[in-house]
Amino acid sequence: MGHPAYRARQVWHWLYIRRATNWAMMQNLPASFRRQLEARYELAPLNTVAISGLVPGTRKILAELRDGEHIEEVLIPSADRRTLCVSCQVGCRYACAFCASGKSGFCRSLEAGEIVGQVMLGSSVYGQRPTNIVYMGMGEPFDNYDAVLKSIRIINEKDGLNIGARHITISTSGVVPGIDRLSGEGLQVELSVSLHAPLDELRDRLMPVNRVYPIAKLMEACSRYAAATKRIITFEYTLINGVNDSPELANALVRLIRNMPARVNLIPLSPVDGFTGETPSEERVSRFAGVLNKAGINATVRVSKGSRISAACGQLRRRFSASGQSDAKMEPLDGGEL
Ligand code: SAH
Repeated sequence: MGHPAYRARQVWHWLYIRRATNWAMMQNLPASFRRQLEARYELAPLNTVAISGLVPGTRKILAELRDGEHIEEVLIPSADRRTLCVSCQVGCRYACAFCASGKSGFCRSLEAGEIVGQVMLGSSVYGQRPTNIVYMGMGEPFDNYDAVLKSIRIINEKDGLNIGARHITISTSGVVPGIDRLSGEGLQVELSVSLHAPLDELRDRLMPVNRVYPIAKLMEACSRYAAATKRIITFEYTLINGVNDSPELANALVRLIRNMPARVNLIPLSPVDGFTGETPSEERVSRFAGVLNKAGINATVRVSKGSRISAACGQLRRRFSASGQSDAKMEPLDGGEL
């Protein structure tokens, strides 16, 4: 815009350190410059529609975008972390059988600013900066590659939010070209791959993406990624009772990943409307984990903190749009301000 370069640093500081919510607050910028910015850029924080689980612990925020669409983000605090789970799309195109995000269809991808806006909003609810960001909310990050990467570079920037790349996780349903592209970015982000089945026939049924990028192609991409980045890949595996949780399938999983720098995150299914699968018993979960651990694979079971507050993957937006209002467990907020 023809202004000296240091003005950019000032604006950046106002946005990400001072958390300015309008241009007028940026007092050390000339008034004419502020007017120019105002005319050219919208500086609108996300509007909070509802927040669930107001007790200390996991909270889920339903936010409204400028065009009236809704997205969700989840705060998952633990003893040593403040994790924030963000969405990258409204809805999802990938339609995994057990995931609520795809059930209400796909609406649109988010802009980088709308993803960063979730981090700003999450920070204000936490009362401080999150320590970890996971791209595990609604949507497929590699179906919105450019905006996701741009948002990562913004939240990673030292002079701003300064969230370390190693504390940022991208989770993909297995979009091979996205994995290859990420290999070349020179970013130290964590990559999670949602596998959920070690055999094509089963994975085809659970995850339609497998018909485009079958397991062998996916594993080749993961090997290339691991070789190029020297990083460990986390495989996510949602356990569905009697469907993909047998010891035989655990052994097939071992054969698939044992030559790769990998760990496994086991997620007992969080029940969703429209999917008949059930959560396995603790016994079945630990038997599956036991097979992996015995084979020398680091496998941990993710404890669901989300299901009681409808925080499991797309459930909140779905309930909200089905009823036209928040469900009983939600606390609607007047005026959208926190
Ligand atoms: N599209 C990305 C990120 C979104 S979901 C991906 O597929 O990885 C984040 C994780 O939650 C994925 O591993 C997804 O498969 C899993 N998930 C979705 N619905 C679930 C459910 N009902 N119960 C347990 N895990 C689920």
